[in-house]
Amino acid sequence: MVFEKVAAVYSADGRRSLKPTGEPDEHYECDDVLVAVGQENAFPWIERDIGLDFDQWDMPKVDPVTFQSSNPKVFFGGDAAFGPKNIIWAVAHGHDAAISIDKFVHGQSVEDRPPPMVTLVSQKMGIHEWAYDNDLSNDVRYKVPLVDKDVALKDVRTEVELGFDRKLGYAEAQRCLNCDVQTVFSAPLCIECDACVDICPMDCITFTENGEEEALRARLNAPAHNTTQDLYVSETLKTGRIMAKDEDVCLHCGLCAERCPTGAWDMQRFTLDITHADHRCQQR
Ligand code: SF4
Ligand code: SF4
Repeated sequence: MVFEKVAAVYSADGRRSLKPTGEPDEHYECDDVLVAVGQENAFPWIERDIGLDFDQWDMPKVDPVTFQSSNPKVFFGGDAAFGPKNIIWAVAHGHDAAISIDKFVHGQSVEDRPPPMVTLVSQKMGIHEWAYDNDLSNDVRYKVPLVDKDVALKDVRTEVELGFDRKLGYAEAQRCLNCDVQTVFSAPLCIECDACVDICPMDCITFTENGEEEALRARLNAPAHNTTQDLYVSETLKTGRIMAKDEDVCLHCGLCAERCPTGAWDMQRFTLDITHADHRCQQR
């Protein structure tokens, strides 16, 4: 196998290309060569007289927000839009292009877009829904078992990932931090009985006078030293105090909500509802 020596050269806008260094080619003896096919975008088949503009890489010029090309009826996404990325980007491009296409065929401006990924829905949960197993596993992520290499290399159509079996799937699920379930505080419902302060295993709830953040952090039941994590400070309660909660150490165990006699603490689940083409958030 003969390799030509190249070096990475970066253009002013940071794009990398490989240029021959002029050094002698290198020859490696091999018994077998497995060819890993890198895929390139190439659009020689697109006629150059249909109103599509191409850049210096011979890639179509595409708006990074609307995914519309210079021919308004043609949209691009995935590798064809901005070069190789991964499939997650391609799916996201597909969603955004679908919104543009939907607006375009309805005669609306593709520039006027619903905000992406911002519809948060809180769902009040019953006690048995949030009484989940919060004994989190500290295991590192489990690797998906793969088929034996000898089998995989014999047939390119072999499915390489075997997936988790029941036992491994359970172990992986135990790593879930349950971060979709949050403690939500309602100041008007609180009678300041301190029951939640007593039960909290992390001492992360404090009822105190409000004040400057540095002093407030220092006089919490468990002082909050991690200043990169915001404190939650409630509105003023009936006695003039506030409730401050250090989210940095909260386990989301739900004991405060279980203990609270008035429902001032509540465990709520949030659902992220992303924007889709012809989604209800577009129907304004
Ligand atoms: S969820 Fe648990 S750790 Fe968090 S504030 Fe409530 S009692 Fe404390
Ligand atoms: S248990 Fe409920 S009512 Fe009592 S102090 Fe805590 S939040 Fe307020």
